[in-house]
Amino acid sequence: MTQNLLIYNTLTRKKELFKPLVDGHVGMYVCGPTVYGDPHLGHARPAITFDILFRYLQHIGYKVRYVRNITDVGHLEHDADEGDDKIEKKARLEQLEPMEIAQYYTNRYHKAMEMLNTLPPSIEPHATGHIIEQEQLVKEILSNGYAYESNGSVYFDIQAYNKDHHYGILSGRNLTDIINNSRELAGVGEKKCQADFALWKKATPEHIMRWPSPWSDGFPGWHCECTAMGRKYLGKHFDIHGGGMDLIFPHHECEIAQAVAAQGEPMVHYWMHNNMITINGQKMGKSLGNFITLEQFFTGNHPSLDQAYTPMTIRFFILSAHYRSPVDFSNDALKAAQKGYERLMDGIANLERIQTSKGSQPDTAKFVKELRQRCYDAMNDDLQTPLVISALFEACHLINTLLDHKTKISADDLKELSETMKLFTFDILGLKSNRGVNSPEREKSYGKIVDLVLSMRQRAKAAKDWATSDQIRDTLEQAGFIVQDTKDGVTWKLNK
Ligand code: ZN
Repeated sequence: MTQNLLIYNTLTRKKELFKPLVDGHVGMYVCGPTVYGDPHLGHARPAITFDILFRYLQHIGYKVRYVRNITDVGHLEHDADEGDDKIEKKARLEQLEPMEIAQYYTNRYHKAMEMLNTLPPSIEPHATGHIIEQEQLVKEILSNGYAYESNGSVYFDIQAYNKDHHYGILSGRNLTDIINNSRELAGVGEKKCQADFALWKKATPEHIMRWPSPWSDGFPGWHCECTAMGRKYLGKHFDIHGGGMDLIFPHHECEIAQAVAAQGEPMVHYWMHNNMITINGQKMGKSLGNFITLEQFFTGNHPSLDQAYTPMTIRFFILSAHYRSPVDFSNDALKAAQKGYERLMDGIANLERIQTSKGSQPDTAKFVKELRQRCYDAMNDDLQTPLVISALFEACHLINTLLDHKTKISADDLKELSETMKLFTFDILGLKSNRGVNSPEREKSYGKIVDLVLSMRQRAKAAKDWATSDQIRDTLEQAGFIVQDTKDGVTWKLNK
């Protein structure tokens, strides 16, 4: 392992040199989706951020166990005090099994993530499949004196915990502020303190998703699942826990408290959080009318979208910003991302057209020599994907200069340029080509046919048979090829 990877740890509020607990192995847990609605941008950003980390850790030689959960129970509505579960509410309305709805949205989530080219995690545990582990966690916290039972529910005793430990360590809040700011109304009469959070909730009679426990027939509190499943699959101590910044408080703060309350010490070494997405400067929300699902982005079927945007445009757009910076989606910004993505794909496709010389011009040789390390340096500095992209854009500029015969490159340097660009674009940034350059055979067979057809068009033109010439160009364009007549001859590329 030769790379010195710095990552920003939310817990210590600084960049730290990444060092795994077990040499050569990384355990990584990321909070996954709550499956009660269509996947949207809020799902795309953490999935892509931690996909980059997953890819990069593997690339630099680690064996990574990546766990990303599916929340299919226990995540109560933040804005409702009735303590009703969203999946159940929908189940009653639509006469469906709760698990049928969870499965439906899980499938849609998987489909969208595949389109965004995120790699599947190593383990994808469901909260409903780990009720026993969650009950075990609650028992441990109770027996250590950091929780209490009240009317069949179990609550975490924040004040008792804070006497021995620090509740608020991750979010930087102190207990008084947390209590004063707590607007949690659920179960308020049962709790010692309004900021205490539920570890186990007694089910009301109409609650369908319920399990027996020593305290009541009920269901686990939302925060329990990640602590219980993280411990089950990654052990009592593991390297990385990630998620969106909106999860820092209360979710991850509660996870830390649960782990310390159960086992006496923290479970996670590095906490990593991606920043949020806004739409035209506003927070995305159903009530604001700016809630756009990924499918709507891919089809363009939403009143605030000017056009459809491909999954790779969305991925490129998200990677154009550092994961800890906010990202604002607008049609203009997406169109710029689409252009940037096309520019990069053009550059890579054009690598095949470059003619090599005996030696490289000195500045070209220097650029090629440094490119790979520049990209590594950017990735090693807390995953600076925007700097990788700008280095790749400089490479595209060099490619254009080479095509214009304004500089020279040797065969070895061209090979290095090509390998570096493809490694970072496809393997590390996880972008997919829309030109078929990932499958050179396909590209070559297309190429032969298009070249043949275009030579027939040249002959038609030479014979002043304009009708045939135009017909060939129009047919090619309908089939998705862009044909351009330049002073050096005819060029073509695949439109999509
Ligand atoms: Zn979680």
